[in-house]
Amino acid sequence: MADPAPITLYNTRSRKVEPLQPLRPGKVSLYCCGPTVYNYPHIGNMRTYLFEDFLVRTLRRAGYEVEHVMNITDVGHLASDADEGEDKMLLAARREGKKSEELASYYTDVFFRDSEALGIARPTVVCKATEHVSQMIQLIQRLEERGFAYESGGNVYFDVAKFERYGDLAKLDMENLQAGARIDVDSEKKNPFDFALWFTKSKFENQELQWDSPWGRGYPGWHIECSAMAMEYLGETFDIHCGGIDHIPVHHTNEIAQSECASGKTFANVWMHGGFLVMVGDKMSKSSGNFLTVSSIEEKGYDPIAYRLLCLGGTYRNELRWSWEALEAAQNSLRNIKEAVLKLKDALTPEQIAGLGEITLSEQAAGYNSAFEDAVFNDLRMPAALAVLHETLQDDGLSSSEKLHLLYSFDEVLGLGVAQWEREQVDIPESVIELARQRDKARAERDWARADALRDEILQAGFVVADAASGFELKKADN
Ligand code: AMP
Ligand code: ZN
Repeated sequence: MADPAPITLYNTRSRKVEPLQPLRPGKVSLYCCGPTVYNYPHIGNMRTYLFEDFLVRTLRRAGYEVEHVMNITDVGHLASDADEGEDKMLLAARREGKKSEELASYYTDVFFRDSEALGIARPTVVCKATEHVSQMIQLIQRLEERGFAYESGGNVYFDVAKFERYGDLAKLDMENLQAGARIDVDSEKKNPFDFALWFTKSKFENQELQWDSPWGRGYPGWHIECSAMAMEYLGETFDIHCGGIDHIPVHHTNEIAQSECASGKTFANVWMHGGFLVMVGDKMSKSSGNFLTVSSIEEKGYDPIAYRLLCLGGTYRNELRWSWEALEAAQNSLRNIKEAVLKLKDALTPEQIAGLGEITLSEQAAGYNSAFEDAVFNDLRMPAALAVLHETLQDDGLSSSEKLHLLYSFDEVLGLGVAQWEREQVDIPESVIELARQRDKARAERDWARADALRDEILQAGFVVADAASGFELKKADN
């Protein structure tokens, strides 16, 4: 097999765009923080999973084998990303009067349904926090042995003062950060930035999910979950770690601290973060309960893939502003791309379509391929990649086979579902066909008023009539 294509990615740790240098040639190990399954994922959360999907597809398109691990947080994520508040799963279980396992399994299913609707490829490994508690306990023990953890008031904390590079990822200015700046500082901590590795029931009574541990019955902190599962599946050092930008100052900072202190090695070589989806004047927040989901956009008649296209229209590191108008524009753009692709499919025989992979591209077509790769292989510049797609469709110098070949190939990264697009097979009632025939006749007789009236009657029946080279064409009306 040929060597994979070179790729550059922005590394939050160095704040630079760097060439990717995987630990093992041709293979990329990737860990992505997964959902906390206590509520419906909102479209902001899904923007982060879409960005990670663009990354995975780009790496595969470049020729890398990708080991993509994602966790499911089904215990331990407290109401704030630091240690304050109660476990999000337990708050939700009480709200809905259900056991936390039931909730976790319901919301995990919703997450994967929404992911599929958005064209997100399933990770190669999906791992649940509740099934990896023994690995978390072992990791905490290693930290204790190496002097990075202390017990206080029944809980075990990570001692940030012992790790000189604490806060490097977020470029935290530890000296100037006010000790009491965070609300509700746990008085058991030596330093307000210390974070819990293990909670016992001394923190919360009636905790539903508990495990035995050397420190008493209790449950793990949220950050330790990701470190333990990433190491379990990818080793102590791996290539790329991803998440949303909000994870830089707390969650990922703490993952680095505890992982690197336990192993003495670099945890992840590249850290990548997706920018937020923002609502004008409002924060999209899962815990406030006031947010949009994939289902809510579907209920308004939008194709989830239009939301995917909307996200492709922004660079992953920047904020993306949400509006229904932007979704409407993306839906129109999707419709145009689809129509252009269907026309290309109409122009080719099924044999030609099946053989598209084998065609030799003209120099011009190869140029579009290079331009597309140049965009995506250099830090996932998706808006530039979309521009290449539109130019390809508009170029009259390319043959239909070349265009469709290019569209299929671009779609390995874009994931719009081009290969599955077919003309809708709708059963058109004979009465509607008869109306269309009469309209044709009226037009031939230049009776425009009657032709228009018949078109309206056809629309009333739920169909749109258009003129075509061979008479007329009937399509189902868009509601
Ligand atoms: P959670 O389920 O709350 O742990 O969040 C899942 C993922 O969504 C994390 O990687 C977050 O960083 C990310 N996230 C949360 N809110 C947003 C948002 N408004 N836009 C983009 N990503 C977000
Ligand atoms: Zn994580």
